Amino acid sequence: MPIQTLIESDRKHLIHPVINYRAHEARGVTVLESAHGAFLRDANGNELLDAFSGLWCVNVGYGQDSIVKVATEQMTRLPYATGYFHFGSAPAIELAEKLVDLAPASLQHVYFTLGGSDAVDSALRFITHYYNATGRPAKKHMIALQRGYHGSSSVGAGLTALPAFHRNFNLPLPTQHHLPSPYAYRSAHGNDAQALIAASVGALEAKVAELGAENVAAFFCEPIQGSGGVIVPPFGWLKAMREACRKLDILFVADEVITGFGRTGPLFACAAEGVEPDLMTVAKGLTSGYAPMGAVLMSDAVYQGIADGDATAIVGHGHTYSAHPVSAAIGLEVMRLYHEGGLLANGVAQGPRFAAGLDALLAHPLVGDSRHRGLLGALELVADKDSKEGFDPALKLSERIAASAYQNRLVFRAFGDNILGFAPALCYTADEFDLLFARLKKTLDDVLDQPEVRAAL
Ligand code: PMP
Repeated sequence: MPIQTLIESDRKHLIHPVINYRAHEARGVTVLESAHGAFLRDANGNELLDAFSGLWCVNVGYGQDSIVKVATEQMTRLPYATGYFHFGSAPAIELAEKLVDLAPASLQHVYFTLGGSDAVDSALRFITHYYNATGRPAKKHMIALQRGYHGSSSVGAGLTALPAFHRNFNLPLPTQHHLPSPYAYRSAHGNDAQALIAASVGALEAKVAELGAENVAAFFCEPIQGSGGVIVPPFGWLKAMREACRKLDILFVADEVITGFGRTGPLFACAAEGVEPDLMTVAKGLTSGYAPMGAVLMSDAVYQGIADGDATAIVGHGHTYSAHPVSAAIGLEVMRLYHEGGLLANGVAQGPRFAAGLDALLAHPLVGDSRHRGLLGALELVADKDSKEGFDPALKLSERIAASAYQNRLVFRAFGDNILGFAPALCYTADEFDLLFARLKKTLDDVLDQPEVRAAL
């Protein structure tokens, strides 16, 4: 199809995720055509440096031939195997074992999904089932964080704390609660890590006391909040929240959909602090976006509770494509690339370069905050660095930034509240980081040159 026909057809028929429908119709789609390494090519022939790994998922970078090879072999041998009726396939079983080997030691059992939203949804269903099966049916309330993101399933979107996911969707549910996130830049505690941690633990204790521990099922959090604007808590925060959950007798669920698979340095962010969750959700980097797959990992205690509690009945949770053999074969090869392929090590080695590049932009007139861990980072733009006041939404600064970034052949995520998110692939070279920061500086300078933006400072 010619590009203009594609754009017209997209406008008429294809519904895009998380977008203003009328704004998309007016703007039209940017069709991506091919990709290699850290670069995307669009249908207009532009080569774009991808500083967001697709949607924080293509951690191994594009064009990894070995993944194409294993996927082709698996498709040829066995393109599909149901997990129903006691069937299974070798790649799915091997990937489950591999994940258990690599994940925090508390996690012993794996249920595969198609992505992150259904991993969270599965976790919610398993938790509810667990408490009902083990004789504590009152434990129904779920606690998460403001600015948290836990996908867009019909219940999980209520744990997500972004207003667009609730408005007109009748969410959150009365059993879903949100506590302030550990957002140093905009917290009264600032960079006082101990005060920030104590405030979060205190808020969790107070909420559980208010609801009654006998009524609270679980606390969900991302080790670093992604879609809420890359909120990086101080070291020690995750561990303190985990320990608080243990004391309060509620399950601790780590949503590592973004932070997993080398994004923050180690394979899982929990590992950096020796945190052992009761459940963990993963997706994205599990297959690096080469095929859809997510998973929920659970502790032996939760698994045995469900298995014993319902020993004679079927646990009615399933997906046709759970443990899909092609996705699983890809997942195994992706794990090999992280370890034997050296990508995890490269990500760790490049972390300081990424951090330094972001921090250097603190000198830019538009930038108020720089935050990062591993290859996950953000800049927050402000109109006034002293008061930290943001920009008038009427200025549509994020849209200006995104348009300017495209002109400068750079892709990252410009959030609506003037936070710019970055998640470069683990295969980035030093030269690619230099290019990223040269293009990013030019993007910010070009926006600053716009008279309406200058006038707002
Ligand atoms: N949890 C987190 C922490 C996420 O970042 C995301 C996706 N950005 C999800 C869940 C949902 O994953 P998916 O989009 O694959 O459904």
